[in-house]
Amino acid sequence: MTYDVVVLGSGPGGYASAFRAADLGLKVALIERYKTLGGVCLNVGCIPSKALLSVAGKIRSAEQTDKGISFSKPTIDLEAIRQHRQTTVDTLTNNLALMAKGRHVDVYYGEGKFVSTTAMTVSNQKVQTSLEFKHAIIAVGSKAIKLPFIPHDDPRVLDATSALQLERIPKHLLVIGGGIIGLEMATVYQALGAGVTIVELGNQIMTGADKDLVRVFQQANKDKFNFLTQTQVTDVTATPESLKVSMTNKDDGFSLDVDAVLVSIGRSANGNTSNIAEIGVKTDDRGFILTDDQGRTSVEHIFAIGDVTHGPMLAHKAAHQGHIAAEVIAGHSAHFQALAIPSIAYTYPEVAWVGLTEEQAKTQNIAFKTAVFPWSASGRAIAAGNAAGKTKLIYEQKTERLLGAGIVGDHAGELLGELTLAIEFGATLEDIALTIHAHPSLHETIGLAAELGAGTIT
Ligand code: FAD
Repeated sequence: MTYDVVVLGSGPGGYASAFRAADLGLKVALIERYKTLGGVCLNVGCIPSKALLSVAGKIRSAEQTDKGISFSKPTIDLEAIRQHRQTTVDTLTNNLALMAKGRHVDVYYGEGKFVSTTAMTVSNQKVQTSLEFKHAIIAVGSKAIKLPFIPHDDPRVLDATSALQLERIPKHLLVIGGGIIGLEMATVYQALGAGVTIVELGNQIMTGADKDLVRVFQQANKDKFNFLTQTQVTDVTATPESLKVSMTNKDDGFSLDVDAVLVSIGRSANGNTSNIAEIGVKTDDRGFILTDDQGRTSVEHIFAIGDVTHGPMLAHKAAHQGHIAAEVIAGHSAHFQALAIPSIAYTYPEVAWVGLTEEQAKTQNIAFKTAVFPWSASGRAIAAGNAAGKTKLIYEQKTERLLGAGIVGDHAGELLGELTLAIEFGATLEDIALTIHAHPSLHETIGLAAELGAGTIT
């Protein structure tokens, strides 16, 4: 069977590119080694974590005893929570299979492997199929990084995938890595009753975000988590009773006995698999496939997208790259030119940022200013009892063009959309300030921050 495009991997990059290619009239095959489509994001990443975070949010709300209402202590039915997670995942992955069918995308389930620059085999337990292609899109994603000194086969040592299974809630969970994934899982386990320690090597958690935003998150969670920054885990020893975690910080070494450890120290690209290098597709020494801004690899008619390429490991970045690769293959002149890729930590409160951070603007020697609107002055936030938040705009000093933005507070992730669009459209503070924002709303804090920066209000 010969296809115009064969897409290897069905995550957000893979399915987005396969569907766009089919919509553009190309004959498409989509290959996936697991039983369901959707990749890490739908099966063991973005979606199940958000299903569990929604439960965590409800527990947190129930535990708040302000505003004249108090609830009795929530009872937790772990099996029902697992079911909610699974139903969410099943709904979305089944929808993907239907969408593939509707577009006449042929789906092959099995391990895909290049045998040449124009042919691939797909093997599962029953059959090996050979496919020929004019173009291929590699979307094989990434995997969790392991640490050599950790007993990863001990069931008390979790990665994001096993943590999402919610086999049990440990009394004390230690999370190695204070990035978004680690913090989201910490939020879930804390709400379900675990004591949580978060250990981060760097000098702040959520290293991609500006310190002032992270400070608000940390302050709001100071009674929920034990944060240990500038701390390195040097050993984890399993005993029948506990896991002994040895650590060092700038002062000395110490250890903690915990019931479970979640290793969440980042992900590595899957570029060194599937005979990718053997057919001449160039990767770097960390397994990332090298591409140009159209997604083209060192082999002219083979493209790569998503986590297996450079840039932030995010589903929406993968999908955007997927659309571009498909359009280029269909003969369009498309390029990856995103000015702004949003990042959201779906924690409580949420932390969201887009475009340049202050830190990045400083490193790039850009003359910039910031305008900050504190939520303690927002009618909507105060009325909802969620005044711990802020909206920050980062703009070029001379032109007042928006370069970046950060929000911490409830629904920060949803509020970020307006700012992403503003950056892409080259909006200035005045553009934002002159846009009428509804009152009282949280998005009004964006308009008010712009008015502060533009000097319309003081
Ligand atoms: P993947 O989703 O990794 O998909 C790759 C697919 O290729 C997999 O299904 C794999 O089985 C398949 N494959 C690989 N090799 C072969 C082969 N040889 N043959 C057949 N199939 C193969 N991102 C966000 O934007 N928002 C979030 O909220 C978010 N939350 C996350 C939470 C967690 C816990 C984790 C782990 C990740 C999260 N991410 C989030 C990151 C997001 O999941 C990834 O950025 C995204 O899935 C990358 O998409 P992709 O298409 O590049 O690859």
